[in-house]
Amino acid sequence: MCGIVGYIGKEKNALNILINGLKALEYRGYDSAGIAYFNKNKIITIKEKGKIEELEKIIDYSIESNIGIAHTRWATCGDATKINAHPHSCGKITIVHNGIIENYDDLKEQVKKDNYKLISETDSEIIAVLLNKYYEEYNDIIKAIVKTKQIIKGSYAIAIICADIQDKIYAIRKDSPLIVAKNENASFIASDVPAILNYTNKYMILNENEIAIL
Ligand code: GLU
Repeated sequence: MCGIVGYIGKEKNALNILINGLKALEYRGYDSAGIAYFNKNKIITIKEKGKIEELEKIIDYSIESNIGIAHTRWATCGDATKINAHPHSCGKITIVHNGIIENYDDLKEQVKKDNYKLISETDSEIIAVLLNKYYEEYNDIIKAIVKTKQIIKGSYAIAIICADIQDKIYAIRKDSPLIVAKNENASFIASDVPAILNYTNKYMILNENEIAIL
């Protein structure tokens, strides 16, 4: 199960909002946690094994950011390690994923032939690799998401950021929960309502064949 939180808004306290959101999802269980955010035009990723408090020890809350995605992992493929913790990145793409990609072994074999190097043992990393591969091919993130969605099998809630697109978060889901929410100043995604309730009660469940663009 575990959790996903995403935030984009006017306020530059993304790190705070993301960590508080993850804490509100702790009841879902997890073994590691991580976040990715934009700072000075770059995606910065930090992750840690264990409790969210472990992640907080390496977070500098004075860093300003108005966009980021966050994750608590409950390992299904690969041990509960820092390397396997989310977010996962490939090229310009960074993602967090809840669920299981059932055909990841086959997909990993295919991308290895294209000389992609995989760093983690997770099924989730293949999502970042495919998104990056098709983003490079089409130069269009939506086309890359649609293509990747056609290829991956299994259950997923996925949040995506792209180094070239610093003002958007993308999200898709299938058989895993994900809500989108907003207030006057910000938009959010989350696995469940408690993660966003401090900021808004305006939310909807993302439909299975929709792509959310925040
Ligand atoms: N299957 C993925 C992994 O093992 C995601 C697990 C989750 O839902 O947190 O990394």
